[in-house]
Amino acid sequence: MSSTEQTFIAIKPDGVQRGLIAPIIARFENRGFKLTAIKLVTPGKAHLEKHYEDLKDKKFFPDLVEYMNSGPICAMVWEGMDAVKTGRTILGATNPLASAPGTIRGDYALVMGRNICHGSDSVENAQKEIALWFKEGEVVSWKSAQQAWIYEN
Ligand code: GDP
Ligand code: MG
Repeated sequence: MSSTEQTFIAIKPDGVQRGLIAPIIARFENRGFKLTAIKLVTPGKAHLEKHYEDLKDKKFFPDLVEYMNSGPICAMVWEGMDAVKTGRTILGATNPLASAPGTIRGDYALVMGRNICHGSDSVENAQKEIALWFKEGEVVSWKSAQQAWIYEN
């Protein structure tokens, strides 16, 4: 069963520095997803440690937090049919070398510690991440004029 979902997508500091904000947004827009929140942020170490708290025991954790803290991040919420799973498909595999061409990581990245973008891995985590990164009112509810041309009903 497909359902309308929201997912948290973030363009990591390497994606921002490499001028990839527009092409990444285009992939989600062109697919038919609706942007409901966007901001450029440098949220700091404590926030990034919280975002990746499930990975805190991994040996790459300190490097991951340093990487994420190295520049601005473009934080977004995208909405639409099966947005969480489809968002992950658009991103590609965690390891860019294992990502298919046509995915963001498969087209723009080579190593895990510079893999350009983040996408929520479950509906539950998407909700947690959206609540961590956005305040109430920053996520905008709106009806897209394209809706009837993207969905059957
Ligand atoms: P994701 O959901 O595909 O982003 O992957 P994970 O949630 O497992 O890991 C979060 C992020 O940590 C990844 O996007 C990578 O940037 C980084 N990462 C994960 N695994 C490794 C690893 O084995 N080595 C390094 N250097 N970074 C990793
Ligand atoms: Mg993850």
